[in-house]
Amino acid sequence: MGRIERGGQRAHRQTGQQPNIIHFHRVSTSSEPYESCSRTSTQTVGQDDARVNWEGTEHQLTKEQVVRYSRQIILPSFGAQAQSRLCNSSVLIIGAGGLGSPVAMYLAAAGVGRLGIADRDAVELNNLHRQIAHRESTVGIHKCDSAGLTCRSINSSIQVEMYKDGFNQQIAMELASCFDVIVDATDNAPSRYLISDACVLAGKPLVSGAAIGTDGQLTVYNHGPDGPCYRCLFPEAPEPQSCSSCSDAGVLGVVPGIIGSLQALEAIKLASGVGRPLSRSLLLFDALAGRFTTVKLRQRMPSCIVCGTSPRITAESLLSYSYATFTGAPSHDAGPAPLELLAPIQRVTAAELHKWVTSDSVSIVDVRPEAQFSIAHIPGSTNLPFSEAKPQAFDEHIELMRQRVRDAAIDTGDDSLHPAVCVVCRRGNDSQRVVDLLVANGVNDVVDLAGGLEAWARESGVDFPHY
Ligand SMILES: [Zn+2]
Repeated sequence: MGRIERGGQRAHRQTGQQPNIIHFHRVSTSSEPYESCSRTSTQTVGQDDARVNWEGTEHQLTKEQVVRYSRQIILPSFGAQAQSRLCNSSVLIIGAGGLGSPVAMYLAAAGVGRLGIADRDAVELNNLHRQIAHRESTVGIHKCDSAGLTCRSINSSIQVEMYKDGFNQQIAMELASCFDVIVDATDNAPSRYLISDACVLAGKPLVSGAAIGTDGQLTVYNHGPDGPCYRCLFPEAPEPQSCSSCSDAGVLGVVPGIIGSLQALEAIKLASGVGRPLSRSLLLFDALAGRFTTVKLRQRMPSCIVCGTSPRITAESLLSYSYATFTGAPSHDAGPAPLELLAPIQRVTAAELHKWVTSDSVSIVDVRPEAQFSIAHIPGSTNLPFSEAKPQAFDEHIELMRQRVRDAAIDTGDDSLHPAVCVVCRRGNDSQRVVDLLVANGVNDVVDLAGGLEAWARESGVDFPHY
């Protein structure tokens, strides 16, 4: 669910530090309509309680609310008035995944009166190690329904609204306008720019979090007189190749849990008016080192095309602005688009490869990262990792591959009907790059597995895990 922008240093010239900026991706599966945005005031349980027997001072809390939230109400730095403001506030959480789960649960628990949850996905089994608002029993159910169920089970006195088409351009301005605070818990660059633009145009603070691998980040955009927006820091979109997603790079489950909890904290501070929001500061979390670092961010840029002095993006033009073109990336985490680098004759299907593996000898070279190879691989495969980001690193394997092709050709014999070596990867893109690289270096008699090991898991008929 993330990607790392190499251009992060642009945002941090003042400090000399160069933290990476993390973005996210997500799969979209739902086309259900969103529920219309309610602008009614917050409904709370027990508002009709008789108040004749007691009296609070300058707050609207009911007796039940006083009991429920007592442990934070008694805090001198919080108190009944802050709780009252929280109960009358509204927060929109965009993304009900690894970040959005703790945000939704903590905000529900804390008593934010109206919670909006926007997402398009259904819960999958591989979400459960980090997306703690969901359960085994809700796998296959829309994430809005699943997270809504969890929030209501924590606090039935709050109002939960669901936006099952996610936060898209058609409803961006309406949604951003009718919540007090917006939380970006998404995982891709197009969504981050859209959410930031809508928050600027609607005049709403944006709590932005990101987590990938073992790293996390947090800041508040568009807050205060000089707080920057996302575009102020990143007027140019990151190169799609410079970013990686959680489905490719992985994420340690507790990392988005920590960042999401911090996002909930920032949202509570903004909604209750307590504390100092993390504006113009970027919090960096290194999970392996157990280290939090804060770096100062530049202030709002007069040249920014959305929050600057001569904005070019308006509420009207936002509708037709192409965020996918601007970022060169899709607003979902469906994985990279299938590459068509090789001719069909240079590729084999999973079914064909299965026949070769079972009836004849074929040498299989698996070019996935070692961590993925160790999950599962076709028996007898050799692991020679290839990275699109560092293709030159594979050069050291080319002579080995030349030898492998020579040896395999001897094993399979001159009358073999298939090439001696098959290159496989996860999805069938890197394997094409490797075959292309080998052919360019004069290593022929090599094919790749079309669709990679995902196709192998689906189509070969053998038991193989999909991850
Ligand atoms: Zn800006």
